Amino acid sequence: MAKQQQAIQAIRGMHDILPEQSPYWHWLENHARQVLAAYGYQEIRLPIVEKTELFKRSIGEVTDIVEKEMYTFDDRNGDSLTLRPEGTAGCLRACLEHGLLHNQSHRLWYYGPMFRHERPQKGRYRQFYQLGVETYGMPGPDVDAEMILLTDRLWKKIGIRDKVELQLNSLGTSEERAAYRATLVSYFQQHLAILDEDSLRRLETNPLRILDSKNPAMQEMLQQAPVLLDHLGEDSLAHFRQLTQSLDALGISYRLNTRLVRGLDYYGKTVFEWVTDELGSQGTICAGGRYDGLIEQLGGKANHAIGFAMGMERILALVEQLGSVTPEPTTDVYMIRVGETAEQLGMIWAEQLRNDIEGLKLQVNCGGGSFKSQFKKADKSGAAYAIIIGDDEAQRGEVALKSLRIEQEQITVNYDALLATLSNWQQQKSHSSNQ
Ligand code: ATP
Ligand code: MG
Repeated sequence: MAKQQQAIQAIRGMHDILPEQSPYWHWLENHARQVLAAYGYQEIRLPIVEKTELFKRSIGEVTDIVEKEMYTFDDRNGDSLTLRPEGTAGCLRACLEHGLLHNQSHRLWYYGPMFRHERPQKGRYRQFYQLGVETYGMPGPDVDAEMILLTDRLWKKIGIRDKVELQLNSLGTSEERAAYRATLVSYFQQHLAILDEDSLRRLETNPLRILDSKNPAMQEMLQQAPVLLDHLGEDSLAHFRQLTQSLDALGISYRLNTRLVRGLDYYGKTVFEWVTDELGSQGTICAGGRYDGLIEQLGGKANHAIGFAMGMERILALVEQLGSVTPEPTTDVYMIRVGETAEQLGMIWAEQLRNDIEGLKLQVNCGGGSFKSQFKKADKSGAAYAIIIGDDEAQRGEVALKSLRIEQEQITVNYDALLATLSNWQQQKSHSSNQ
């Protein structure tokens, strides 16, 4: 006898999205698509693998992602490739490669898995889904405000608006940051004893990131640190002021977070995060900012860009925690068939119903079984109705129709009456879901 093989399991931090969860994903994805369409954004689909060099040059050598989180490997030609840890670099690479940035502006979005070798925990995975949005060719701050507006609209649509807070900061220009960096480093040097190991390492390489530290022992010292906003020039300040004035006029509240620096090197001027305190320490559900400088860094002509990405798992975790969403069942009608004549007629009528009722979700029981066992499956499917066919009815050209969710007499119907009842039900359903 063959020895039973040991089952193979998924990679740590990489999760299956099971059928019972996918309706929630579709629900969120559909809302996001609708919101993006309402602002004229177009989808771009990008490869999951890029040259390692792309991420090193864009995200920055001394960021967490490039230092320790990338899935990098040599392919069979010996080229170093990386599973994308984020989408901004690939999106810009594609637009430069295809000449989309010559005297044009673009509003784009992409969606898909990203890969980072982090320590897996709630809200932090090694494969996770981001919906990313990028715009090119617009200096802002009007488009900066639009980005925030469209995320605000999505949060309202999915019912989480009052659970998230908008945090805003400006990182100024790279010259302004360089001057600030020197001030900041000398401040930290006066407090070396308080800095933890991570921060000491960053003091040389990426001191702004120290501001981001969550280490409780460092908080008081960080509160007193010099503030970047105080080191910005008139141009950067005007950009920021105009943005906050727009947000005020549009009724979008925000909190100025002068320690918001973002983990990636390429940001300048506007940066923002949407944060919830309902998800523990993985509370940022959406983050982004302006990155005009990255375009030249990747070999393009000076231009403008702003974007953000939202973490789908974290948004869904928040939605699930609030418990306010019941996605549509995947089945409207379940067809039960017992007997050979019934099975044949059922298949034909099911096809006919799918022709006659656009969008009807009709599941036909396959693989046989008693009435009782098929009823159980019908109930479990979430369907509103069961169509029941036995050989006797089939021979008379009739079926039984039973409501599974509300008290209602079972009726016996021919095809036309079946069609009329189900069409009616579906119209009512789509009418009430549009309200
Ligand atoms: P964090 O500070 O939580 O590590 P980040 O600054 O690394 O986030 P970004 O690169 O800005 O994150 O990615 C945008 C969004 O993608 C985050 O706000 C978050 O919602 C989500 N995200 C990032 N990393 C992960 C991950 N490992 N697992 C799940 N979601 C993630
Ligand atoms: Mg991170």
